[in-house]
Amino acid sequence: MPEVVGIPVLSDNYVWLAHDVASGETAVIDPAVAGPVLEAATSRGWTITQILNTHWHPDHVGGNADIVKATGAKVTGPAGEAGKIPHISRAVVEGDTVQIGASIGRVIDCPAHTAGHNAYAFEGALFCGDTLFAMGCGRLFEGTAEQMHAALAKFMALPPRTLVYCAHEYTQSNARFALTVEPENEALVRRAEAVDRLRSRGEPTVPFSLAMEAATNPFVRAGSVEELARRRAAKDAFR
Ligand code: ZN
Ligand code: FE
Repeated sequence: MPEVVGIPVLSDNYVWLAHDVASGETAVIDPAVAGPVLEAATSRGWTITQILNTHWHPDHVGGNADIVKATGAKVTGPAGEAGKIPHISRAVVEGDTVQIGASIGRVIDCPAHTAGHNAYAFEGALFCGDTLFAMGCGRLFEGTAEQMHAALAKFMALPPRTLVYCAHEYTQSNARFALTVEPENEALVRRAEAVDRLRSRGEPTVPFSLAMEAATNPFVRAGSVEELARRRAAKDAFR
């Protein structure tokens, strides 16, 4: 598994740098912007060699052009959205692999938030863009609850210790909603408290384990597509 560093940018995005020590290769996942990402890499003596995009939204591909210009990095993105991924050099589908030095990642198709959204699953690390969040899931902009249900099931089939590197710090709001769904879930109550402590110190709540999601995420825990759909609609209206 590569060494992973998070860069908080914009209002609540995380851009992830994944660095393979042996080869010196560095990938950036979903660069919303270029400047802070290039700075974070340079300050560590790392050179970005590739960009992995999970979907076409501007807060995930906005840095592509300037990072490519500065580093010549190759861009990998989902085949279903290839036309909307700036500077894409390789379009991938489920089962394809990506490589950061010696670390091999498997491409998982997880359309729901957008029609061609994908994720990159390395041993112990899942980069899932806007599909799974801590105690939450992505909004269904281009896909269906059925697709989100299937996507979350694919993720939950990975080893429970896998750390999830999602693209937003939405955790506190997700926890408040989750508590309305399962107010008596002890693991959830404790996690919400831990999250509040982290955020009061300005610390990130990402990454987190799939095991934690199994215990506390109301979308992962939905018993059916219909239940997931109801919860997603309720969250959309939740303030
Ligand atoms: Zn998005
Ligand atoms: Fe996003």
